[in-house]
Amino acid sequence: MAKSKSNIVIHNPKWFRNEPRELYCPLPEQRMLYAIHLAKQNVLEKTGGPFGAAVFTTDGHLVAAGVNLVISAGFSLVHAEIMATMNAQHLLDTHDLKQSELGPLELVSSAQPCIQCYGSLYLSGFSSLITGATGEDVEKIGFREGPVPENWVEQLEAEGMLVTTEMLRKDAQEPLQLYKNFGMPIYNSGV
Ligand SMILES: [Zn+2]
Repeated sequence: MAKSKSNIVIHNPKWFRNEPRELYCPLPEQRMLYAIHLAKQNVLEKTGGPFGAAVFTTDGHLVAAGVNLVISAGFSLVHAEIMATMNAQHLLDTHDLKQSELGPLELVSSAQPCIQCYGSLYLSGFSSLITGATGEDVEKIGFREGPVPENWVEQLEAEGMLVTTEMLRKDAQEPLQLYKNFGMPIYNSGV
């Protein structure tokens, strides 16, 4: 297909489009399990890096989700957190998720955010964040997280965001290990 200079198109993978539009996960652990499921599926389907993220209302209704598409889409920026954010903003028709009629929104990510995704949390309007695997887990298989501040949790909490880390960390490490075992590409560009 010819590329247009006036539009950028990012396709969510085919399998992802068949994921449920509605999902009720009243427990935070259930929400994390869904983010981990997305990460694992992305590896098994070979559609991107081992990362998944989902946006929920604070009472546990799924709003949108996202998976890492760096290689399949050909963009260094399209991490799972970014895709979940953009899918939510697209569906809710707002660049500021704080303005959503659904009330406060939560981002649940299978892994700790990298420097880019950490930065995006200041701009997107989430009220809370839950992460699974740590930055250390991510870097252990070769990905770079960049210079995320040591006290990144406190920094976000100072902005009023509720942050929970290392939720179901062992389960969240599985997609990372799977990706490594498959010998899939580690795509750090570096500076
Ligand atoms: Zn990222």
